[in-house]
Amino acid sequence: MRRGILPIVGSRIESATRPPCSRRPILLTPRIDAFDRRLRGKRIVDVGRRGKRVMIHIEQGQTIVIEPRMTGIVLLADPPSTEHLRLRITLSGGANDQLLFWDRRGLGTVRLMTAEEIETTIDAKLGVDALIITVDELRSRLCQSKRVIKVALLDQAAIAGVGNIYAAEILFRSGVDPRTRCDRLSRAQWQRITAETHQVLDDAIRYEGSTLRDGTYRNAINGEGSYQSHHGVYDRAGKACHRCCEGEIRRIIQAQRSTFFCPVCQRKTGIHRSLL
Ligand SMILES: [Zn+2]
Repeated sequence: MRRGILPIVGSRIESATRPPCSRRPILLTPRIDAFDRRLRGKRIVDVGRRGKRVMIHIEQGQTIVIEPRMTGIVLLADPPSTEHLRLRITLSGGANDQLLFWDRRGLGTVRLMTAEEIETTIDAKLGVDALIITVDELRSRLCQSKRVIKVALLDQAAIAGVGNIYAAEILFRSGVDPRTRCDRLSRAQWQRITAETHQVLDDAIRYEGSTLRDGTYRNAINGEGSYQSHHGVYDRAGKACHRCCEGEIRRIIQAQRSTFFCPVCQRKTGIHRSLL
């Protein structure tokens, strides 16, 4: 998402409006009139990311913090439907004349924040970013936890930026059963999980995310991501594992979220021979 909207850097904000929407409104702070007033005429100086949030930095120390949650997306044009369009920021002086926030379920949030607010309400609560976390950082945060590893990987205070699809893929590629308790994992397994976290997320970014069968996730120009065709387990329940060709991918629920895994590649004890 961050890379997709990078072309807006240098543009000036003309206005911010909430398009008419009959759905339950998303959380927007401050209210749209104050949001618009504080941004009008200001230049966008950078687009960053903190965990799963897109951070649009505006001159004079303000930042638009977009947290997409389940179905939110940022777009430069062409929303999938006008019905779920939640915010339109009109731009001038650059390649794009608008930035849109679209959200089918409406669980996403948009907040205008100062640097101090970001420090106290976001940075203070986030773990080390998943793209750069080291094995020692990950292990020291989780190795005494009695939680199962799949659930712990989604704990943003421990490691920031891993979502549900990628947690399943990381554990599949690590050969670790998602039901394994953190305090039972070996150092070699932590090493493998850390390395695969970097690899899976790098790949997912390169392939612009996963557009599942519901078609919700789109890139910034309303195109599909393609990481879904590289999934080893996610959304593949009942299908043969294409790594070991023996296991049938299973779906279970952990902490109210779907988990997919291969019972052969991800045996509870030991690493399957296909991974050695
Ligand atoms: Zn397998």
